[in-house]
Amino acid sequence: MAERLSPLEIMTKLISFPTVSRDTNLPLIDWVEGYLDAHGIESHRWPDPDQPHKAALFAHVGPWEEGAVVLSGHTDVVPVDGQPWDSDPFTVVERDGKYFGRGTCDMKGFDALAIWALVEAKYRDPKRPLQLALSFDEEVGCTGAPPMIEAMQPVLPKGSAVIVGEPSMMKAVTGHKGGQGFWVDVWGFEVHSSIMHTGVNAIMEAAKIIAWSNEVNETERAKEPTPVAAMFEPPWTTLHTGVIEGGTAANITAKHCQFDIGYRAVPDADKDAWTAMVRDKIREVEEGMQAIHPEARIEVHQRFGVPGLKPEENGEAEGLVRKITGDNASHVVSYGTEAGQFQEAGYSAVVCGPGDIAQAHQPNEFITVEQFNAGHAFMERLLDRLSE
Ligand SMILES: [Zn+2]
Repeated sequence: MAERLSPLEIMTKLISFPTVSRDTNLPLIDWVEGYLDAHGIESHRWPDPDQPHKAALFAHVGPWEEGAVVLSGHTDVVPVDGQPWDSDPFTVVERDGKYFGRGTCDMKGFDALAIWALVEAKYRDPKRPLQLALSFDEEVGCTGAPPMIEAMQPVLPKGSAVIVGEPSMMKAVTGHKGGQGFWVDVWGFEVHSSIMHTGVNAIMEAAKIIAWSNEVNETERAKEPTPVAAMFEPPWTTLHTGVIEGGTAANITAKHCQFDIGYRAVPDADKDAWTAMVRDKIREVEEGMQAIHPEARIEVHQRFGVPGLKPEENGEAEGLVRKITGDNASHVVSYGTEAGQFQEAGYSAVVCGPGDIAQAHQPNEFITVEQFNAGHAFMERLLDRLSE
């Protein structure tokens, strides 16, 4: 019989694969596939047709029926470039009650626990099925999970409670904001600034859109928050620009200006309406530019798009996690996760995983031994419940 690895051994293995988002995750996927196969678990791979060096993987254990608990995590990690690490980021090192390594917290620690639980479930013959779903490209805008979720549905019986194990200190997180971001390229028409009325100044046109964002933010801030919005800080949808670049010289109307614009929406906001509002404003500014010079234009490219996670009424995933953890408080977070994408696809979803988000993406990223063990205990109780 194949060897059953401990959660720590599995995490050590997963972290040894440097699956930074820009690079391949296939060696990790190969390993998981082989490990599950050695324990008689068939897994399914979804290779990304646009990025042949990346794949998602999902698997099912237990009765072949709907209603599985789905444990989901991403396999990619953020880069370590330029970060001062005290030890090799891709080797798990235990020191002072902590496991150090890139991804220990975000989120290969949870991935390891989920793989461990799936194999355990195989030997315990549970009454209720358990599924594993491992995605990629979460750290570059949550773009890997939606095609994985779509690919799972015709292959596996549909699960009914999804636990996305992003670091939440094992608290049940039932809501987060969603949003969308764009790169905007404003192409003006260059003339000498003394005759600026005959040119189109890309910077000054971009400024109109950014100034409008400030107005929208003030309007939103002044509104009475909905009960869902009131759970967040701040309790309204925000528009933000973080980067702007452009222009040639002080006495030339700028030919080009690029900036980013994006919104973070409270989960009950109408995302389509927000996207339309941003695009309408950009079109309005573009029309004004083209009235002066027909070649002037604005190009918009989507940078990311993540649905929010809406707190569910009597949500199954939330209920399950609350029964296991005993945590009955309400928690929402400010970071986006794949849970919103599962929810959008019709699953009950919750975020619950070991570790503190404060350690994610940091040099010397770690998960405490205590949190990792809490995750292990959670999986033990989950397995008990699946057998009840
Ligand atoms: Zn993460």
